[in-house]
Amino acid sequence: MPCEVKPRFVLLYGSQKGQAQSIAEGIFEEADKHGFEAELSCLNENEKYNLEKERAPVVFIVSTTGDGEPPDNALKFVKNLKKKTLPSDHYQHLTYALLALGDTNYANFCNCGKTIERRLQELGAKQFYATGYADDGVGLELVVDAWLEGLWSAVKQASQKMASDASAQQKGNVMQTPAFLEVQLNRLSLSDHQPDEKNTSNNATDGKHATVVEQTAATESKPGSSESRTELSSAPSLTSSLPPLSESALNIPALPPSYLDVSLLEVDAVAETLGPANKGALHEVPISKAVKMTSGDAVKTALLFELDISDFQIDYHPGDAFNVFCPNSAVEVEKLLHRLGLWDKQNHHVCISLLKDTKKKGGKVPTHIPNNSSLLYLLTWCLEIRSVPKKVFVRALVEHTGDSMQKRRLQELCSKQGAADYNLFVRDQNLSILELLTAFPSCLPSLSLLIEHLPKLQPRPYSAASSCLRHPGKLHFVFNLVEFPACSGRPDGKRGLCTGWLFDLISPALESSGSRLLPKVHVSLRPNGSFRPPSDPAVPFVMVGPGTGVAPFIGFLQQREKQRLENPGAAFGETWLYFGCRHKDKDFLFREELEDFVSNGTLNHLKVCFSRDNEEVEWEGAQSTARPRYVQHNLLLDSKAITSVLLEKSGSIYVCGDAKNMAKDVNDTLMEMIKTELQVDQLEAMKTLAVLREEKRYLQDIWG
Ligand code: FAD
Ligand code: NAP
Repeated sequence: MPCEVKPRFVLLYGSQKGQAQSIAEGIFEEADKHGFEAELSCLNENEKYNLEKERAPVVFIVSTTGDGEPPDNALKFVKNLKKKTLPSDHYQHLTYALLALGDTNYANFCNCGKTIERRLQELGAKQFYATGYADDGVGLELVVDAWLEGLWSAVKQASQKMASDASAQQKGNVMQTPAFLEVQLNRLSLSDHQPDEKNTSNNATDGKHATVVEQTAATESKPGSSESRTELSSAPSLTSSLPPLSESALNIPALPPSYLDVSLLEVDAVAETLGPANKGALHEVPISKAVKMTSGDAVKTALLFELDISDFQIDYHPGDAFNVFCPNSAVEVEKLLHRLGLWDKQNHHVCISLLKDTKKKGGKVPTHIPNNSSLLYLLTWCLEIRSVPKKVFVRALVEHTGDSMQKRRLQELCSKQGAADYNLFVRDQNLSILELLTAFPSCLPSLSLLIEHLPKLQPRPYSAASSCLRHPGKLHFVFNLVEFPACSGRPDGKRGLCTGWLFDLISPALESSGSRLLPKVHVSLRPNGSFRPPSDPAVPFVMVGPGTGVAPFIGFLQQREKQRLENPGAAFGETWLYFGCRHKDKDFLFREELEDFVSNGTLNHLKVCFSRDNEEVEWEGAQSTARPRYVQHNLLLDSKAITSVLLEKSGSIYVCGDAKNMAKDVNDTLMEMIKTELQVDQLEAMKTLAVLREEKRYLQDIWG
């Protein structure tokens, strides 16, 4: 029998944290069912695809990272695509669809996707399906689900159109430039997608929201049994819901196929050195000093660490950050081992291979788990056990849950109808798998499921808060101790993983007035080539860094101070720093050092505001009687001078710190300032800011 040749399409992803990759892998897995053969590649695997000759539809799934940058594995592709030497018909033969992932909490939302799209169009490529812009700030799935639903019919039409154009071309009667498919985005409503038959099975693996679950669980539960634990209460919580959700039929995602075969091997006791997995590439540096920078009653506790890097080749510059590698909390690892029933096997070796006959296409043994790791090592150093379980993980947990009410609640949390509850009780609370398992005691997942769904433990970056010109052989950084309050699903508060670990490392020494020997930490440099003071010292610049966002500017100013001393005759441009904290006497980080910079002329303008001091602030740096609360209020007061620095004197502006609120508000304020000072409309002001960004004169280093 002749075998049927399925139409093909090319699927390319650029992914920093794995989200774009996992969406692309999901499409790849579904392709067969929709009658296609998908060719999946990462954008950096350019030996696997050839867009110059590609005649099949191409689907891009790309995320954006940092200040609108492409993910590392898409950098080269984007760089090549931006080459000005490419002719305007370079991709005239190409038809594409694109899903861009981003986060509106950051400036340059979906910038990587937008850049790829703009260049593809400039080079003649045609879009066969409207671009989706998914926002992690509100939940990617809001756009991703709708986009995926419409994708298949669009690929089908594009593919048919291309095949018929190709055959017409062969017959020699094709139009020179065929009119292209109408761009379409099928934003179908939920009711459009109710499967014909209501299905109470939990095992469907076909289709994104393949299963509709009816509300039967509540009636199945037996009063008085452990199952009645999640009785309906007056307010919804992590473990219980209210009507209409508790009574509605649910569209839940397809069960992700398992793909790992994990076994535990008892071995003779071997001394396993604990530490991060790729230790060889890291530096294990001693902490030489730790200072608490805030008063005891400050809202947040900020600490400054000094690392002794004199014995290491760490050539850092102000503006760079470096990664701190921390382990998971020993207490949480212990609890998780108990919870999984694996406490007595913690020293067994974990053997991982690909499951034979797995339905997951492209499944791989995770590369972040070294061979012969013990179970204890795996949970301590390899997996981000604090990560918030994604909906697809919650979906998989349903299958391992005995109690029917708990099962129903997990189904709700991963369903379309329960999206708001998932955001409220899981995502926004930063709930971990351990916290989820504690709240759902009848859920007992396998170790392989955890390895399949928990991401790699990531290092935490910190901005250098020093210059080695001022502190040779030393590297400073400053951080706030992150605190998560108690919530439904977490009876007690907890600390951030890395900041909590760093705090615990040095607290014995802090308590004993620093007389104890301080421990070491594993770090690696994370250079940021563009977040640097202007290379010409005569160029003026403005720094905006409230809270710990001031860190890189301390490095900038230490460097500048030294340069001024060494070049007394040279011209130096004016420097401005906008700093903000809550209380003058509690969390004014680096106060003395900043005042010294002002008095020795390194810093020309220091503008500080206190957001929670009620009384009028009497501090010599405060130049206005109208009390500005936030950094942007001070910027507004200096509107004329700052716009002149940026637009007349070719100066630069740097913003560092919280991305969610501060950086956005500062951006809006800059826009207002430009509108007022140049007397232009919003669009012109936006264009002016875009030019500043393009010229790398408006730079952000933001997080949160
Ligand atoms: P985790 O356990 O990872 O929890 C983090 C989660 O807590 C976040 O998802 C967020 O939702 C929540 N959260 C609540 N409050 C905060 C808060 N104030 N900050 C961060 N997350 C919060 N941080 C610094 O303090 N100083 C720096 O100099 C610094 N430089 C950075 C430079 C870069 C390039 C980047 C990307 C980040 C930087 N950060 C800095 C952030 C830092 O890397 C960590 O994210 C932060 O310290 C929290 O780590 P954690 O492991 O304690 O928290
Ligand atoms: P913070 O919580 O941001 O608070 C600092 C000051 O900013 C407070 O006075 C606060 O006032 C004020 N503030 C609140 N909302 C604001 C807004 N919309 N606009 C302007 N100011 C506002 O300080 P932090 O805890 O030090 O946090 C800094 C964040 O930046 C952290 O998430 C940290 O991880 C991150 N960070 C990133 C980098 C980087 O990416 N390179 C470097 C350092 C720090 P109120 O609380 O009174 O409202």
